[in-house]
Amino acid sequence: LIEVQNLKKSFGDNEVLKNITFNVEKNDVIAIIGPSGSGKSTMLRSLIHLEEINGGTIKIADEAFVEDGVYKRPEIIKQATSKMGMVFQQFNLFPHLTVKDNLELAPKMAGKKTTISAMTTDLLQKVGLLNKEKAYPKSLSGGQQQRVAIARALMMNPEILLFDEPTSALDPELTGEVLKVMKDLAEEHMTMIVVTHEMGFARGVANKVVFMDDGEIVEAGTPDELFGNPQHERTKAFLAKNL
Ligand code: ATP
Ligand code: MG
Repeated sequence: LIEVQNLKKSFGDNEVLKNITFNVEKNDVIAIIGPSGSGKSTMLRSLIHLEEINGGTIKIADEAFVEDGVYKRPEIIKQATSKMGMVFQQFNLFPHLTVKDNLELAPKMAGKKTTISAMTTDLLQKVGLLNKEKAYPKSLSGGQQQRVAIARALMMNPEILLFDEPTSALDPELTGEVLKVMKDLAEEHMTMIVVTHEMGFARGVANKVVFMDDGEIVEAGTPDELFGNPQHERTKAFLAKNL
């Protein structure tokens, strides 16, 4: 579903992603782990064209929207990136809109008319917030806001969901309710890429784990391989600190 080949990204002369190559198959749940500053967010943001890369190819559903560092026409980029939804650490809900309006803004702007309100009901039920349609974000807990953000991302029917540390801004007692929603999505075979510090999630829910360090993929494998039998010293050192 996603093919990334030799992705390179620099900010000025800081080479942040060096030569990233990996594939995502349909129904994969991929956990990306690695130290702060290793390039995890930049990698995720590049996939959805929130960052422009300097080299390499990104294909979504067999179609490259950037090939050897050259971007295609805007329609092609939009078509590719619209297959993905993203959930951020800081929720990024619109504060002046109710929960319902947060969910419905993007599909309405995209000109979808028919099933919007039924989808809103469905998705709010799925994340356990059916009674919060009329609430404003600031009246919700962080965990509730993040569940709204997940429902909002699902409104556009993405084939792939990207999560950038979705629980890192939450008080510990609220992370479980968000991880539960993500686990439910995984069990429904949503294709997901999750940057996370939650090693329990990476181990228990993901089918592949990717360890990044210093702009490179150092090691990737099944959770059993990566956690049970890490091959590289850098992976071992990271796990020793974070498990
Ligand atoms: P964390 O775990 O702290 O979120 P990360 O693995 O997500 O870290 P990135 O945010 O991708 O790491 O950052 C990788 C490198 O790129 C860092 O050195 C960071 O300072 C740099 N960087 C990220 N965004 C920008 C930017 N907009 N301008 C300049 N440098 C940036
Ligand atoms: Mg990050």
